[in-house]
Amino acid sequence: FILYRLQPQVKQLDAAKVNLIALSSAVDDVISLLDDSDKPYIRSGNIHFQKLKQGIYFESVSFAYNATEKPAVQDISIVIPQGKTTAIVGPSGAGKSTIIGLICRFYNLEIGEIYVDDYPLKELNLHDWRNQIAIVSQDVHMFSTTVWENIAYGRLGVTEAEVIEAAKLANAHQFISELPQGYDTKVGDRGVRLSGGQRQRIALARAIVRNPEILILDEATNALDSISEHLIQEALNTLSDNRTVIVIAHRLATIEQADKIIVLNAGRVIEQGKLPDLLKLNGLFAQLYNLQHRNAHI
Ligand code: ATP
Repeated sequence: FILYRLQPQVKQLDAAKVNLIALSSAVDDVISLLDDSDKPYIRSGNIHFQKLKQGIYFESVSFAYNATEKPAVQDISIVIPQGKTTAIVGPSGAGKSTIIGLICRFYNLEIGEIYVDDYPLKELNLHDWRNQIAIVSQDVHMFSTTVWENIAYGRLGVTEAEVIEAAKLANAHQFISELPQGYDTKVGDRGVRLSGGQRQRIALARAIVRNPEILILDEATNALDSISEHLIQEALNTLSDNRTVIVIAHRLATIEQADKIIVLNAGRVIEQGKLPDLLKLNGLFAQLYNLQHRNAHI
């Protein structure tokens, strides 16, 4: 009889246990993401950062992962203007991810300088800076918990309305609503398997709730289905309004919409400018571009 009376409490405890299990795996995920024991120590600067005013400037930047190896990028001088979309293109191993890693300050820079507006990047408070950057990459990390948590994870105290608004902007609301438990559906290792395009849209929604100054998109090299491509492109167009967007671009449609294109090859910037200027140059970019059809990948 006592057991019978305690049934609701036992049920509650059971639910709490399930929540705890879900939470503990999410905590593990966060710890593994934060585990940078093999990364170099990055010292934070003191200057507070809130908003990008003019842009990010690389001045004669060279960087090698190992002192004994050839630099991954060499003598890079580029401007990434505030509020515009800059596409970084180039063959595999050209140095595209290294440039992103340097912007995020994953590595210490020894040769050259990166400026954010008037300040050397290394003098900015690291937390402030990274707080204003969201990265949406091709291998999006999905935490083993609900869709809801996966979107809200980006910011503390986010409201229900904000999560739904972000999912709508990311063109994810519709497919989420069609999942068995909607926003409460579990995803990740122990949940519903989402397609690559769906995961990217959840990652976009996660980025949107954070409302970052700088959005970095590492575009998928393998083509998504054309509906996903279109939905992501549409979401990005909305997101890039008045935001600094940096895209490691493979799709011609993205490249065509960029305000500026930086072409890398073997660690060096070989061409940069707007699409018509690059086509006129008739160099590597024009060659790659002319080889592809519209909607194809570079
Ligand atoms: P992909 O399109 O294949 O991702 P990418 O243009 O992003 O290539 P990077 O990943 O920046 O190129 O690599 C530039 C160079 O640096 C390459 O020679 C690569 O082998 C090297 N490299 C990249 N990451 C590391 C690392 N963690 N340690 C050592 N070398 C690295």
